[in-house]
Amino acid sequence: MTTAILECISTLSISFQQLRRLPRFLEGGTTKMPLTVTDSDVPRLFREPYIQTGYRPTDQDWKYYFLSLFKKHNESVNVWTHLLVALAVVLRVVAFVEAGSLSLNVVSFPLYLYVLSSLTYLTCSILAHLLQSKSELAHYTFYFIDYVGVSTYQYGCALAHYYYTSNEAWYDKACYFFLPGAAFLGWLSCVGCCYAKYCYKRPYPVMRKILQVVPAGLAYILDISPVVHRIVTCHMEDYTDKAVWLHSLQMIFFIIGAYFFSCPVPEKYFPGSCDFIGHGHQIFHVFLGLCTLSQLEALFIDYQTRQEVFSARYSSNYTLMCCASFFLLILCSTFTAVYARRRIKEKLARKEL
Ligand SMILES: [Zn+2]
Repeated sequence: MTTAILECISTLSISFQQLRRLPRFLEGGTTKMPLTVTDSDVPRLFREPYIQTGYRPTDQDWKYYFLSLFKKHNESVNVWTHLLVALAVVLRVVAFVEAGSLSLNVVSFPLYLYVLSSLTYLTCSILAHLLQSKSELAHYTFYFIDYVGVSTYQYGCALAHYYYTSNEAWYDKACYFFLPGAAFLGWLSCVGCCYAKYCYKRPYPVMRKILQVVPAGLAYILDISPVVHRIVTCHMEDYTDKAVWLHSLQMIFFIIGAYFFSCPVPEKYFPGSCDFIGHGHQIFHVFLGLCTLSQLEALFIDYQTRQEVFSARYSSNYTLMCCASFFLLILCSTFTAVYARRRIKEKLARKEL
């Protein structure tokens, strides 16, 4: 009996010691895991305006960057915001499917593609913020991947708005050019962002922001047009429609997010004070995440309540063709990113950056 108790205590003691080692394992070992460094310790490419500390050093092994998920640095909040939103999207979709509200058929294809596009942009963003500090080539590569995610999400939104949200009057006017236009502008956003990233080095000129924001802004204006039309033309009785409110909310969240994406606020006014928590890009992530979650809820309602509109308007073959164009856009954007990566690799080899 005493031996059994002693064995039990010994096992518990070993388990406790293993548990105590867990944080060190997650950090890759105290000796291997360097502390974060200041902006002057990393190449200029990695320095963000008004962010002075919390940078991860370059040229560590990949494990260091993966495990930095559990460490405090100036990208932690950027990673965790989109990680939590991705988790929320997955859980919400699973609940929707389990409630028997979503089946697998032609009517639901655009909704599945929308969910796929959301998870794609969130995953690409998580990877970019988590792994970009590894090297200059990794920085460019993961941001090019991030831009593929953005164009994918833009087109996923366009498809879902087109199929589930649009009114008859909007559809009659825009049905011929909307999806080709959305696909083209989605791809152009990817091209604009890759080109801006390839061409300019820090300190970035205004032209870089213009190349990033203008194609993406045009894509957003087109993609959101079915939603705007629905909100503007809705009658008094439509205000009981929860989807209209949620769509309004997704637009408000997006516009606030776009402001924080474009301006380095509040860190501009408090340099060095927002390094870990509170800088503009983190606020942008939070609002973009809220935009996605309210958009998802709105689309769930539209999908459930407007299926007869869908069935009357679109043939199965047409829908399948539109869904195929989603994958074509991903392919075009991926080729663009691969090409941009090749060019930047050559440029880095020539030490032009
Ligand atoms: Zn980001």
